[in-house]
Amino acid sequence: MANNRYLGFDVGGTKVTGILSTDEGKVLDRKEVKTKKFLGPTALIDQIKSFSKEFDDFDEISLVFPAPISYSGVALTAPNLTGWNSVNIKKRLMDKFGKYVYVDNDATAQTISVKIFDKGKKYKNFAYLVIGTGIGGGLFLNDRIYRGANGYAGEIGHMVILANGPGCGCGRRGCIEALGSGRSITRRVIENVGEFRKSSFLSNIPPNRLVTEDVFSGRRLGDPFSTLVLDEEIYYLSIAVANIINILDPEAIFVGGGVMKNDPSFIKDLEEATKHELGNYTRKVPILKVMDRTIDLAPIALAIYEKRFGKEVK
Ligand SMILES: [Zn+2]
Repeated sequence: MANNRYLGFDVGGTKVTGILSTDEGKVLDRKEVKTKKFLGPTALIDQIKSFSKEFDDFDEISLVFPAPISYSGVALTAPNLTGWNSVNIKKRLMDKFGKYVYVDNDATAQTISVKIFDKGKKYKNFAYLVIGTGIGGGLFLNDRIYRGANGYAGEIGHMVILANGPGCGCGRRGCIEALGSGRSITRRVIENVGEFRKSSFLSNIPPNRLVTEDVFSGRRLGDPFSTLVLDEEIYYLSIAVANIINILDPEAIFVGGGVMKNDPSFIKDLEEATKHELGNYTRKVPILKVMDRTIDLAPIALAIYEKRFGKEVK
């Protein structure tokens, strides 16, 4: 096992990343290709097969996917990809490659990667949140990934924290994904039509060009409107994190994703807000940022974990 070479794919809404790695997480090769997102499952699986030919000598294949994945490998629904409703992606890939393929939800695999390749090594109980365009999550409990009855557990992004709040891609309203994600930062700026926004430099940026980074730099420059938008963002996230802490009593909360990259103080602010939000149920739970490579290595971690503990079947 020590010399196994793993080929891992991470399918995203815009690109597929392929990574060739050893089981120690030493990256031997890394390539990206634009996702064939509108052409349906057959085209995407063909794309992954031909992409795999760009990598040499691998023993194991693994793939992480932006959809809830059942124990048997069925993708429930992938909101960012066309035609992926109840498709057994695992079976389709295994037929295509003619060998076993490890498959799981991307955030679940990232949670495993936090345990195997990041500071999660130290902990038996933690939750993971990935804050990007949307919000994904995963739970590591009693030293194992927690998948629940069907394999769909850990959808922290769809915890409702504001009744009758803004609509979410999942069909509900007021989910943390609709209030604390990267997309919700820009939406909040665009939808605010009051005087306060007009006094901000953000009002000079056309809505279709506005990115979260603009709001973060606004706060750095002391722009009150940008500061308000991000304070709200942190406030909503802190409600979600406090809920997780109250339910699970974890040793740590890990946070990753693009929104984090904009500001090193983000985690500290979130930790402070969470402490406040916990009220009288206060306790010390560190909020820790994951490394970029932890997210990259998610498919590799998934394969290593499954080899170590076996495939869970329910
Ligand atoms: Zn939702």
